[in-house]
Amino acid sequence: VIDAKYTKVTSELVETLKGIAGSEGVSADEEEREKYSCDEMSIPKPHLAEVIVKPRDTATVARVLSLANEKRIPVTPRGSGTGLSGGCVPIFGGILLSLERMNQILEIDEENFVATVEPGVILADLYEAVEGCGLYYPLYPGESSASIGGNVATNAGGMRAVKYGVTRQLVLGLEAVLPTGEIISMGGKFVKSSTGYDLMQLLIGSEGTLGMITKIMLKLTTPPKRREVLFIPFNSLYDAIKAVPDILKHKILPVGIEFMERDIISIVEGYINRQIPFHDYEAFLMIILEGETEEEVYEAADGIREICMNNGAVDTFVPSSEAAKRKLLDAREKFYHALKHLGPMDIADVVVPRSQIPEFIKRVKEISRRHQMPIIAYGHAGDGNVHVHPLGKDMDRDEWERRLPRVFADIYQAGASLGGVISGEHGLGFEKKGYLTATMDEKLIILMKRIKRAFDPNNILNPGKIFDLE
Ligand SMILES: Cc1cc2nc3c(=O)[nH]c(=O)nc-3n(C[C@H](O)[C@H](O)[C@H](O)COP(=O)(O)OP(=O)(O)OC[C@H]3O[C@@H](n4cnc5c(N)ncnc54)[C@H](O)[C@@H]3O)c2cc1C
Repeated sequence: VIDAKYTKVTSELVETLKGIAGSEGVSADEEEREKYSCDEMSIPKPHLAEVIVKPRDTATVARVLSLANEKRIPVTPRGSGTGLSGGCVPIFGGILLSLERMNQILEIDEENFVATVEPGVILADLYEAVEGCGLYYPLYPGESSASIGGNVATNAGGMRAVKYGVTRQLVLGLEAVLPTGEIISMGGKFVKSSTGYDLMQLLIGSEGTLGMITKIMLKLTTPPKRREVLFIPFNSLYDAIKAVPDILKHKILPVGIEFMERDIISIVEGYINRQIPFHDYEAFLMIILEGETEEEVYEAADGIREICMNNGAVDTFVPSSEAAKRKLLDAREKFYHALKHLGPMDIADVVVPRSQIPEFIKRVKEISRRHQMPIIAYGHAGDGNVHVHPLGKDMDRDEWERRLPRVFADIYQAGASLGGVISGEHGLGFEKKGYLTATMDEKLIILMKRIKRAFDPNNILNPGKIFDLE
């Protein structure tokens, strides 16, 4: 889609961009443009940018945005392209601004427990560097090749959010470039501020629509000395979810509480080609515990086991070695890939109040029956975030894709009617934006559009994401 209000990228403009970002940082090559036309969205909907620009520093980002703003050229920010909603897909062509070369860890401040990084640093590299200093960055989404800039832009969550929160709780400071090319800095190496509007939090989760994030200060902590994983089978999902509030009241707060049903366990077993303990039961909780001493973690594990048994658990599996623990976590991390391997599928990541998970799943199953489409659900029970996958296996592909929007509309409606929202961690991108009006107060959407206009008067930065501006 090339919108009439945007200017096309000419060969002269490509030369001007080379003057700004260097020849090696600019490419209009077809193959390169193809490479940047998708993210990890389950059903890719590729769009080609007209030119790819890979800046090395903030000043270059600012010059590119200033030029794009002056010429009315759309700019799409991209980190590692692991997003699941098409957020970094250049739907209006224009400039694809990839921050992959801004990948330096600038400082690990061991006194203040703060890492300062460029946006293109990937999670795996940050984990390693921080660990080398005896510190810990706890955010743990399922994809460690994601960039920190992308994590901030989507407010990424993951499997340790119950104890440590999501990206929003871990960012202390940000530098960003506004669509007009101005550079701003927000926050810093402190945890308190009552000084005006919190613009930093506004940028977090804004999916690259308000500013390009060019530097990030992250809160670090000390690493846990012990980690245990409990895998607890139940005869029903209702029993499993019922146990969660009691677990959360226990004296050690788990890092993560994941729930899953038998169907996803069977699918992942087929994918990893090994059996998961107790795989015949209906539903499971996977509980991740961290603590300072073996005694502390074992005591917590015993307490949680008892709570689960009182809530209808059948048994508890505690892996005996580090390798066995890793295998269990690895199986959980493979859910998305196992489903993708099975055939066409899509994903919704609805979040509802924790206590509403069983009711939400019940309604999802009704939706599955009504639309005669298999739907798999699992997710982060500790924070109410449910991953819902309609599957297209054994169905005519076109027919399945045609029916999907109605299935999603019903799923989002069910989530909203239970007090939830469309996305807990993946963002709306352009894939999910069509469902926003049906599930959010119109006054809030109007306010968001006014904020977008204040930041980006010419609507050049990631246009067509989250919502459309009229
Ligand atoms: C197997 C798998 C498992 C996943 N598990 C999780 C999970 O558990 N939790 C979770 O939250 N997510 C998960 N994700 C989704 C994805 O990894 C996250 O959304 C991640 O934060 C995206 O980072 P990225 O660098 O790949 O961003 P991209 O996909 O490149 O971009 C995502 C969005 O951020 C914007 N953006 C990127 N960089 C910047 C920047 N510097 N400034 C401004 N905007 C920017 C883009 O325009 C786009 O809107 C998973 C994905 C996969 C494939």
